[in-house]
Amino acid sequence: MKNIVLFGPPGAGKGTQATLLKEKYSLIHISTGDVFRYNIKNETELGLLAKKYMDEGDLVPDEVTINMLKAEVNKNAGANGFIFDGFPRTESQAIALDAFLEEKGEKINGMVALEVSEDLLVARLLERGKTSGRTDDTDESKIRNRFNEYNTKTAVLKDYYQAQGNYYGADGVGSIEDITNRLADVFDKL
Ligand code: AMP
Repeated sequence: MKNIVLFGPPGAGKGTQATLLKEKYSLIHISTGDVFRYNIKNETELGLLAKKYMDEGDLVPDEVTINMLKAEVNKNAGANGFIFDGFPRTESQAIALDAFLEEKGEKINGMVALEVSEDLLVARLLERGKTSGRTDDTDESKIRNRFNEYNTKTAVLKDYYQAQGNYYGADGVGSIEDITNRLADVFDKL
């Protein structure tokens, strides 16, 4: 199996690139943000819980997120591998993911990070908010809070995967196609 964590700050293009790369490598794309949004739309218990955090740009609690992620992986037994998009976002999530995969005799092959500066991203997110229908993309203070969450809780995961010799950075600025090609060069090696 090829299991890849696609990493990067909000708005870096993880979702766009994961959609293209999952086809190329026949992988299952799991976006925890998309799963939460699906649950919000369908007014499930999980959706109601997640909504109050997401609306503020806060992270959903680890336990809830980890259980949801495990269920999504288990739904896809027999997969060729996974692209994890938006997960893990905290060190506890990364530890839980490693332990969960190890139980299955699997591992993360690499964290592939889209590197883009924060100023460019805020502008991109506000632009996306005009068409995406995502309420967390329309209010600059909520966007700033998502970066705050990223910088205080998520950015440390670079060190976590680097310590395993598993971190690969890619320049996230340029055309969608150029970025896909850069990421594919890394995926090919994993
Ligand atoms: P995203 O679609 O990845 O930008 O995620 C949107 C929102 O969903 C985030 O701002 C969080 O509130 C929530 N979320 C998504 N993934 C996670 C995660 N791994 N841990 C905690 N919260 C998450």
